[in-house]
Amino acid sequence: MHREQHSRKGVFSCQSVPEGSAGLLIQRLAPGARVVSAFKTISAEHLDRQVQGSGAGDELDRLAQTLNKMLGRLNVAFQEVRQFSADASHELQTPLTVLKGEIEVGLRSPRRPEEYQAILRSALEETDRIARLVEGLLLLSRSDAGVLRMDRRPVKLKDLIEEVIQEFQPLAGSHSVKLRIGPMEPAQIQGDPDHLRRLLLNLLDNGIKYTRPGGSVEISLRRDEKFAILQVSDTGMGIAKEDQEKVFRRFYRTAAARAQGEIGSGLGLAIARSIVEAHGGRIQVESAVGKGSHFTIFLPLSF
Ligand code: ADP
Repeated sequence: MHREQHSRKGVFSCQSVPEGSAGLLIQRLAPGARVVSAFKTISAEHLDRQVQGSGAGDELDRLAQTLNKMLGRLNVAFQEVRQFSADASHELQTPLTVLKGEIEVGLRSPRRPEEYQAILRSALEETDRIARLVEGLLLLSRSDAGVLRMDRRPVKLKDLIEEVIQEFQPLAGSHSVKLRIGPMEPAQIQGDPDHLRRLLLNLLDNGIKYTRPGGSVEISLRRDEKFAILQVSDTGMGIAKEDQEKVFRRFYRTAAARAQGEIGSGLGLAIARSIVEAHGGRIQVESAVGKGSHFTIFLPLSF
């Protein structure tokens, strides 16, 4: 007996099917085999492809739909990894090119000692930039792999904040930005002091970087029953609504920040979010363009 099998997009095969239970089995297997072989042709390069189900609304159809959705998610993940590698290479290439140029200039002809010193100072700055970038990438990849080392101990956030603020006063001063401690309630959490310090550094550094001279950055600490609530507010350039979620993505920098010419890699907030999440907390931003930003971090209290 000849039986035509139809897919949603049209006839896909015409097979001889024997009568009886063997025939029934083949009828059921044929579309299955076709779907399986279609999925087998999909490699990492073709994850954007979809496979046509049986069109009959049966289990096979639902399976094909589920696998298609999974392929879609894999495709997004693969694209993110590719984009990440491209962005990371680009970010590393820029300081490396500058570094190479500086060394070449230094070697081109004999120079006075102070000239060599200036070249070496500048080369050191670029090396620092590369080191920071690699350190940030390492932290993010460890966090992705779930192997971020967390040396947890009781941390009094008020003390940590006061320490970090002291360290930042010279930088704030050199930008003519006022750095203030706002209302502070004592709050203790179980956390990794080095990671928490890094979190504060990234937020304060941004606050100062994206605020014009004469503006201010304030850090405050309060608590509710469950969380220590840390807020870093500035009177800076602000972040447009459509950018507010994107700024936590790796390498994302707003057009306004790029136009301002401030040096940055676009990893600071991605790292901040990873650290907050590794502590079981969350970070959010409220901001208005031209008025300023409030970054709020919730970290679970330890009792
Ligand atoms: P970057 O190294 O560029 O500062 P971040 O990941 O720390 O990277 O921040 C991502 C982007 O978010 C910045 O490039 C900038 O566009 C925006 N941003 C971060 N913090 C602020 C802030 N306090 N005020 C305005 N824009 C900010």
